[in-house]
Amino acid sequence: MEVLSGLSLEEIENITNAFGASKYRAKQIHNWIYTKSVSSFDEMTDLGKDFRQTLKDNFLITDTKVVSKQVSSDGTIKYLIEYPDGERVETVLMRFDNRANLTACVSSQIGCAVNCSFCATGKQGFKRNLNYKEIIEQVLTIQRDTKLKVTNIVFMGQGEPLLNLDNVLKALEIFNNDFRIGARRITISTSGIIPQINHLAELNLQSTLAISLHAPNHSIRCKIMPIEKKYPIDELKKALINYVDKTGNRVTIEYILIHNLNDTFESAKELAFFLKDIKCNVNLIPYNPVTETGYKKPLKNDIMKFKYILEHSGKKVTVRLERGADIDAACGQLSGKVNNLKG
Ligand code: SAH
Ligand code: SF4
Repeated sequence: MEVLSGLSLEEIENITNAFGASKYRAKQIHNWIYTKSVSSFDEMTDLGKDFRQTLKDNFLITDTKVVSKQVSSDGTIKYLIEYPDGERVETVLMRFDNRANLTACVSSQIGCAVNCSFCATGKQGFKRNLNYKEIIEQVLTIQRDTKLKVTNIVFMGQGEPLLNLDNVLKALEIFNNDFRIGARRITISTSGIIPQINHLAELNLQSTLAISLHAPNHSIRCKIMPIEKKYPIDELKKALINYVDKTGNRVTIEYILIHNLNDTFESAKELAFFLKDIKCNVNLIPYNPVTETGYKKPLKNDIMKFKYILEHSGKKVTVRLERGADIDAACGQLSGKVNNLKG
């Protein structure tokens, strides 16, 4: 049976047409799917009973299942979702107390081929791309469960979004047009796939591009991110300068702080110098422990020093709050395995 989630208003109109119903019915259905995010046709109370039955007989609202849901002590919720082929993925909802924001952290692939040494997803290897419907289903899952509208989206779950760019761009279009989530409320995070960054510059992307830099130079980056051999940091810098030039938008530089590896005074100085010509904000991410890496969290004092040095160089710097670590939902901890779940 055909699934309605992921369809545009025009596509739903084609369906209502075929069943002899008006365009207005299509609008109502569209609203029930993307705004009110119902789980059943019975909840579409402004449609006639017979029409609801016709829909039930011919369509599904969704074909994904929620395998489990965990709520962290800080209010973060992690969902494990299963697609019809049995593959599973995790998606996370973060609330920030003092704001009305509800941020969904979505996955773009099952596993990831980039294999960064500090990341649980990378350890799984790459299974397959998610198609755009599977990406938007993650946000719908959150909305159906919480009955709330997601306001912000970050592509910071499992997978490398720029290695699945067609589906990510199509999902962006649906987030804009159907969910009515503005491009500026969406962030795409990448390990630095240079040709695709250049492509996004040409497309004049208006969403925020976040770059997982994590090192101030080639040799440290090589140790933790194998992608550095293919797309070296100096080339990446050129691509970022070009991106800022073409789009007029500031990029976000993400930098994981790992104790004694890239969190030293020298690294901070070198990073400040490297970022001098790039219009950017910096987001420092204290390393979240993942098994079998041997890496340690940074010391509080070193985080503060690192931040200070970058601020002193004129950058706006934030330290990312750890969210949902007690349920393995923090950055880099998503693996999509049910045996990964605690309690
Ligand atoms: N593949 C993309 C997007 C997903 S990862 C990327 O790498 O950018 C989202 C963010 O979490 C990235 O900045 C990533 O480097 C970071 N991350 C991965 N493992 C982590 C860990 N163990 N602790 C803290 N952050 C981590
Ligand atoms: Fe892939 Fe991002 Fe994890 Fe690296 S940090 S392995 S690019 S998901």
